[in-house]
Amino acid sequence: MKRRELFQTMATATAGAALLGRDGLAAPRHRAEGHGTTAFSTQVRRLQLRHTWTTTMSSSAYRDTLHAQFTRDGITGYGEGAGIVRYQQNALGGQKALEALQSVITSADPWRFEKFLADLDRRLPGQRAALAAVDLALLDWICKKLGVPIYRFFGLDPADAAITNMSIGIDTPEITKQKVREAEDFPFLKVKVGLASDEATIDAVRSVTKKPLRVDANEGWTSKEEAVRKINWLESQGVQFIEQPLPAHMIEEARWVRARVHMPIFADEACHSAEDIPKLRDAFDGVVIKLDKSGGLLEAHRQILVAKALGMKTMLGCMVSSSCTITAAAHLSPLVDYADLDGNLLISNDPFVGVKVDKGKLILPTTPGLGLRLTKA
Ligand code: MG
Repeated sequence: MKRRELFQTMATATAGAALLGRDGLAAPRHRAEGHGTTAFSTQVRRLQLRHTWTTTMSSSAYRDTLHAQFTRDGITGYGEGAGIVRYQQNALGGQKALEALQSVITSADPWRFEKFLADLDRRLPGQRAALAAVDLALLDWICKKLGVPIYRFFGLDPADAAITNMSIGIDTPEITKQKVREAEDFPFLKVKVGLASDEATIDAVRSVTKKPLRVDANEGWTSKEEAVRKINWLESQGVQFIEQPLPAHMIEEARWVRARVHMPIFADEACHSAEDIPKLRDAFDGVVIKLDKSGGLLEAHRQILVAKALGMKTMLGCMVSSSCTITAAAHLSPLVDYADLDGNLLISNDPFVGVKVDKGKLILPTTPGLGLRLTKA
């Protein structure tokens, strides 16, 4: 039997805009249903934030993420991608991009996922978060078929899973203090800075806790002199390392800053692909890897290995996401030095139960695939 016949599918697409219902769930669009063969569908879910989330980039009370389901042989793999505003991505745009590739996805041989995902990456320019939704759904399905958790697929020891910090978004001093108190179980905090209020923010955090801090400036400082001044001040405040003090394109300036401070500097917005990492080697001490930036687990795994081979530190980060993306990233966390995998803890209507956290330590599910369980959220 030819492969095309084997994977025969019957595609049906729901017409019309995917308006969000009261439950925050858009009507499934882009659905392909086969005769017990392959089905692929996407949904946009509205994730409600516990606190309004503010960084130098944006401020919002909710985030919409794109969810994907890949079903074949009675097994469903789940995936998610959180479009990144900085790269002009959003959930509906990602959904539309996948809709255009419906037949490509449903007719692919899922076991040749390396080649298939590389091809999909070429077909999805500027849509790495949507690619991540497919990559996660496919690898969840593959590992369920194999009967192994994702960490075992990559040959990792779940006992080595990282300790995640808890993130504190930009807010008033009073709410910042409240967030720090709510994060008392976590041994490390990551504080968003990059605005004129930086000193007031750190003062508010320090009035409540002496814990080691990490900070993320999200490209918020515009001159190398300002970056050096603020980093040296942050060092006196017990900060361990900083993410992306300057805009992503200022690689030379980052090198200049690095030569003048003791604190390790991580590249986040400056690092998207494994090919970016060698260029960052002298300007940064480490890189922040996110599934939504990389396009999923396969490329994130590649980036971690490249960074390590170049002697750089690695940190797994995340966007505001459900436990789908966060659990996927947590499965790779035994490989990295640091983890910032708290995006699911910032929301109040998580549609999944997956990775757990015990005093910051990530506890990986041991059931096959991502190990997700659906909730009623
Ligand atoms: Mg960052």
